[in-house]
Amino acid sequence: MTSPSASMPEVVTRFAPSPTGFLHIGGARTALFNYLYAQRHNGKFLVRVEDTDRERSTEAAVQAIFDGLSWLGLFADDEPVFQHARADRHREVVNELLERGAAYRDFTSAEETGRLRDLAKAERRTFESPWRDRAPTVDDLTQAHVVRFRRPLPGQVVVEDEVQGTVSWANEDLDDLVLLRSDGAPTYNLAVVVDDHDMGVTHVIRGDDHLNNAARQSLIYDALGWTRPTFAHIPLIHGPDGAKLSKRHGAQAVHEYAEMGYLPEAMRNYLARLGWSHGDDELFSDAQAAEWFDLAGVGKAPARLDFDKLAHVNAHWIRLADDDRLAKLTLDVHLARGHALGPDDEVRLTRALPFIKDRAKTTLELADQTAFVLKPRPIAIEPKGRDLLAGEAGERIGRLRDRLALFESWDVFALEAELRVFAEEEAVGFGKIGPAARAALTGGSTSPDIAKTLAALGREESLGRLNDALQQTI
Ligand code: GLU
Repeated sequence: MTSPSASMPEVVTRFAPSPTGFLHIGGARTALFNYLYAQRHNGKFLVRVEDTDRERSTEAAVQAIFDGLSWLGLFADDEPVFQHARADRHREVVNELLERGAAYRDFTSAEETGRLRDLAKAERRTFESPWRDRAPTVDDLTQAHVVRFRRPLPGQVVVEDEVQGTVSWANEDLDDLVLLRSDGAPTYNLAVVVDDHDMGVTHVIRGDDHLNNAARQSLIYDALGWTRPTFAHIPLIHGPDGAKLSKRHGAQAVHEYAEMGYLPEAMRNYLARLGWSHGDDELFSDAQAAEWFDLAGVGKAPARLDFDKLAHVNAHWIRLADDDRLAKLTLDVHLARGHALGPDDEVRLTRALPFIKDRAKTTLELADQTAFVLKPRPIAIEPKGRDLLAGEAGERIGRLRDRLALFESWDVFALEAELRVFAEEEAVGFGKIGPAARAALTGGSTSPDIAKTLAALGREESLGRLNDALQQTI
């Protein structure tokens, strides 16, 4: 834990997820905004795991958050803070609030509180604890109780939100929230304030479902004489149909996007644009995002997930990605699909990638389009392919095989030229060669044009496949 001091950077942001079993796409976007804002201002980006719900916060759930963040490349500048481990400090601050008269002990039983709350509701007034203005006796103090915040009355709390603008609440309408439960457990709003303060957080950027908490938290800051952070409450992400993102929209977890074949840099690019804009820029690098990101560019309206746009952004980043890296990712997809790896598969895959990466929107599509290189010999030729190889066309493939068997310089440009010469000699258009050659070389799978297919497969494999096909079909 870093305590605020003169050496702290001017901007400290944080991502404070509650572990729920996975990193939600909305959480990922919140993390990214905090990360970019810190980068933009040469500040620090911190992560705090809000693991006070001990039942949900299993080790696996916490790990899922870290895995999601590291897949996205959003690394914190310090070790993560675990909220649960700070309960003593939270209680210490509650004592300070009690000493300042800004909190009080409430001995009302849970049952009675429920009754009084219902009554207040029926009478359309805010629930007030009878202990707000009642001093406990020494005897009372031995009884179970909660500690409540004593909000200033009358009054109002005004939050200058960087996204929502000026928002105000009458203190009357908020209730005296519980700070410590009767078992001594600190509550969420208290813990957030104490942790953000102690971590030196200057900017709280989070979903606008927390806007009301900003009112409550601001009052706690004020009561402690602490400087409030700047708040920025960003609209939540909606599904393509405009409804709040929910299970029914599918893909909620970041790892699902990885499984759907999106690259982390594409997700960063796409998520940055989800609710934030910099002019008309759609495709930009991490460095540009870090240079441009500001809260003024965050819109007030909820952003909609748009899978076509995501695919477009992903296709862009696939084109720019390094072939070796793409080969590994594509290989992983093939392995996940149950393909047993042959000794030359990775080499062939890497050779194929430059020919197909311009046409794929996801790594799943890269896998679809590279399936032809991984087929073990002899590959089965589909009936349609057999038809293509029947008769004259098959004889021509035989002549092509003979010609290529004498051909040594196996690069794509030389192969293209050689195929052109071959077509001229045969006095046929390429349409008479391509489909039959593809049937022989791939068994009928999709593949790039023939010179590229030959180049990707390599000389020995290409000749072997042509021989196998000719033996099967002639
Ligand atoms: N733990 C809260 C959540 O996951 C966020 C709290 C905050 O950002 O202040 O929704």
